[in-house]
Amino acid sequence: MGIYALTGGATGIGAAIKSLLITRGHRVIVVDLKDADITADLSTTIGRTAAVDGIKGLAPEGLDGLVTCAGVGSHIPNHRLIASVNYFGTVKVTEQLADLVAVKNGAIVLLSSNSAPMSTSNDYVDLLLSGDEDAALDASEKITGHEAYSGSKQAIARWMRRKAPAFARQGITINALAPGYTETPMTKVVSEDPKYGDSIKRFKESIPVGRAGKPEDIADFVDFLLGPKSRFICGSVLFIDGGHDAMLRADQF
Ligand code: NAD
Repeated sequence: MGIYALTGGATGIGAAIKSLLITRGHRVIVVDLKDADITADLSTTIGRTAAVDGIKGLAPEGLDGLVTCAGVGSHIPNHRLIASVNYFGTVKVTEQLADLVAVKNGAIVLLSSNSAPMSTSNDYVDLLLSGDEDAALDASEKITGHEAYSGSKQAIARWMRRKAPAFARQGITINALAPGYTETPMTKVVSEDPKYGDSIKRFKESIPVGRAGKPEDIADFVDFLLGPKSRFICGSVLFIDGGHDAMLRADQF
């Protein structure tokens, strides 16, 4: 059975992935702020180093896969945290663990979002992709929470696509998931907010398949992407959103 590293495995989508992988008989190393094998704050360089060193210590034989779920939502007032956790907390950890995944020709799955194509803050996304964390965090303070969030998720998808060919030559497949509205602690907070509650209700009602996503919808697909039957899927941004992206952007893909 395999050994997988998972960031953000304490709640929501990450917790569903953890639970499914354990049911399948795999070992899962969770990095999170709480309820984790490695307690680390991925918004900081120190936390990312603790996460990477901790995973290397627990899986010296290599990883069958890495899944990065740690993230914060667009509703939080501190936009710097959106950029630092969502983007840098994802790509810095992935970069530093790639060799460990390559040992076992493993798979990497990054959590982007179906909001990624909605970003219009090109300068912010360019700064994220440039790797200049201080400048990107400064830029995040000048835009809305939605732009800081969707931009962080667009940058994850584009970073993944830039890296995918080289990773594939190392024996690693890497893909990004673009979930739509999924019922988790993150979305619960926003849906209960008196300011956003009504618009979230209308947004949910507009999902073509007629319901919001469940963490298990995403976990099932992650399980497939980590398994042996998906090894030709590489460099893809996969929308798991009940048809929402198709509804909103039919002619763009
Ligand atoms: P969630 O809030 O339930 O889970 C996020 C996890 O990340 C939590 O366990 C949290 O403790 C952890 N985390 C937050 N900040 C951290 C930090 N600084 N260091 C380490 N861990 C940290 O949310 P979720 O909805 O399950 O989201 C999981 C991922 O899926 C996120 O990246 C999110 O952006 C993405 N996503 C969610 C939705 C949705 O509708 N729920 C849609 C698209 C994408």
